[in-house]
Amino acid sequence: MTLHLVDSFGRIGEENAFAVLARATELQRAGKDIINLGIGQPDFPTPPHIVEAAVKALRDGAHGYTPATGILPLREAVAAYVQRTAGATVSPESVLIVPGGKITMHMAILMFGEPGAEILYPDPGFPIYRSMIEFTGATPVPVPIREENGFAFAAEELLGLITPRTRLIIVNSPANPTGGVTPKAEIDKLVAGLARWPDVAIMSDEIYDAQVYDGMSHVSLMSYPDIRDRLILLNGWSKTYAMTGWRMGWSVWPKPLYEAARKLAVNSYSCVNAAAQWAGLAALEGPQDAVHAMAAEFDRRRGVVVAGLNKLPGVSCISPKGAFYAFPNVSKTGWKAKALASALLEDAGVATIGGPDFGVHGEGYIRLSYASSLPNIEQALERMGDFLTRRNAG
Ligand code: PLP
Repeated sequence: MTLHLVDSFGRIGEENAFAVLARATELQRAGKDIINLGIGQPDFPTPPHIVEAAVKALRDGAHGYTPATGILPLREAVAAYVQRTAGATVSPESVLIVPGGKITMHMAILMFGEPGAEILYPDPGFPIYRSMIEFTGATPVPVPIREENGFAFAAEELLGLITPRTRLIIVNSPANPTGGVTPKAEIDKLVAGLARWPDVAIMSDEIYDAQVYDGMSHVSLMSYPDIRDRLILLNGWSKTYAMTGWRMGWSVWPKPLYEAARKLAVNSYSCVNAAAQWAGLAALEGPQDAVHAMAAEFDRRRGVVVAGLNKLPGVSCISPKGAFYAFPNVSKTGWKAKALASALLEDAGVATIGGPDFGVHGEGYIRLSYASSLPNIEQALERMGDFLTRRNAG
């Protein structure tokens, strides 16, 4: 038997974080004590009032299909959120409720990716950007994200990579895997430069917008009217409300693209789980104390992680300004980053992700998620210290 899978599946990638999670679970099952700093999800439960809203929705009969775009009150609540956080007026008719943050990048890249097209994406960056670009046959053009810029993107460098073949650029701040937050001045420069390229679409992944530290505030690309007619905004509930397993995301689309996105929804998942949508509404409209408490706790852990990493032999780590990741430079340990991440898991029982899993510019770094308890983080740092002392230049 020969099944003829189309060629594009030879090019699709994945997220190594899931492979690390699987290996960590396997080692745990074999009796090994593993501290998992590999996983990119809050270690808190979803706030109870959100859970209750889903239970109530199920009891009240929210059992059927909803509109493919999402229930109207939820789209209105998202529009109000964008107004509040970016000062931008958006119509609920441009808001799409989607099953998780990821599907927005999937749709956007499907809309603009084809052979001959170029799509710019951050490197190191969320691995699915490149994977989906390659899947479509478009040419992936990495935008290097550099430690010396505090892991912010550099507008000039990004603009310099645009060509007449560029169809879409993807930006992400606060960023995975680096924790970098791009300052407003740099975003201003990017938006000004984009005036020269009116036919290029922009997708801004702002899924970590609630986790910004050191008095910085999140700057949404939605707050720039000049690019509104070609901006896709990706956001969702996963990271802000500790709802990764609920699969709840939202996006805002310019009018001509919205129809295309709605049709992709109709052609794939029909609509998002109805009860989850009512939970999403409770999240946006209910008390935000839990969001602030989680961000404050991440901030506290961030201090401990960064201080601890900087004491390890051969390791240096700048203080990330957002998300819940540290991206230490390990190039002076004598280890290649992926080999180090693997040895840390197998030998020291600490799961991290090698920087190259986020792109070629991730060599020399590993990613640690500090969405784990302080005692776990402290013990992980101690184990890493012991390991590096024992096995330095292994
Ligand atoms: N965008 C970035 C930068 C992420 O790090 C993630 C998840 O890790 C996502 C999008 C996807 O989020 P979701 O789990 O809601 O699909």
